Amino acid sequence: MSSPAKPSWRKFASKFRILNKHFSRNGILFVISAPSGAGKTTLVEALRKTGEFVYSVSCTTRLPRAGEIDGKDYRFFTEKDFLTHLEAGQFLEHAAVHGHLYGTLRQPIVASLQKGADLLIDIDTQGAATLRDCDDPFIRQAIVDVFIMPPDLEELRRRLTKRGTETSEQIEGRLRQAAQEMKLWRDYRYTVISESVEADLQKFRHIIEAERYLSRRLIEQ
Ligand code: 5GP
Repeated sequence: MSSPAKPSWRKFASKFRILNKHFSRNGILFVISAPSGAGKTTLVEALRKTGEFVYSVSCTTRLPRAGEIDGKDYRFFTEKDFLTHLEAGQFLEHAAVHGHLYGTLRQPIVASLQKGADLLIDIDTQGAATLRDCDDPFIRQAIVDVFIMPPDLEELRRRLTKRGTETSEQIEGRLRQAAQEMKLWRDYRYTVISESVEADLQKFRHIIEAERYLSRRLIEQ
């Protein structure tokens, strides 16, 4: 016999959240931080391709790089737009990074977590610290923060030079910033010491799986 029609939210929730007929779980907010050039973008792209996460698209005042798409990679805001959203209290966190403003809108994060979706959010160390101190316990409990540690600064310099999207002056600035950020790894629940993209992805997958089985995330029906 076919089951009675469920309300639409149940259908959506079952996609992400219902584990079996006895258990469901809350969404997880995977926060990933790494100095530029640590291989995070490639890792994040690989994770996005799995389709297992809702990717949190940040807002930024920096200009799009070649190939970046508004609404997919970032929402590219003018400084005026950014400040309007900021004054309206719409950012869960925001920070100035490399001379530009970056921020995460609150509403899409809360809405996705409430549906039980797992989110992936790529933010700098300042943003991660703001989220850890967030006044909303629902968000604090959802956070799993992961730091991607580059093998060393020379390798980072090599990767940034190969990427070719920054001037040598900008590369030096990013390396100075990277050295500062690398000191903050202890603040994160997990640290992945970066090797190849495949190895990093594998390590990240172990974290995801373990976090999904945490007893405290389960809800008995
Ligand atoms: P990029 O401009 O190279 O894409 O990113 C520069 C830095 O900004 C990266 O460290 C990235 O993680 C960080 N970032 C991207 N989006 C956000 C955001 O919404 N908030 C914060 N705090 N940092 C962000």
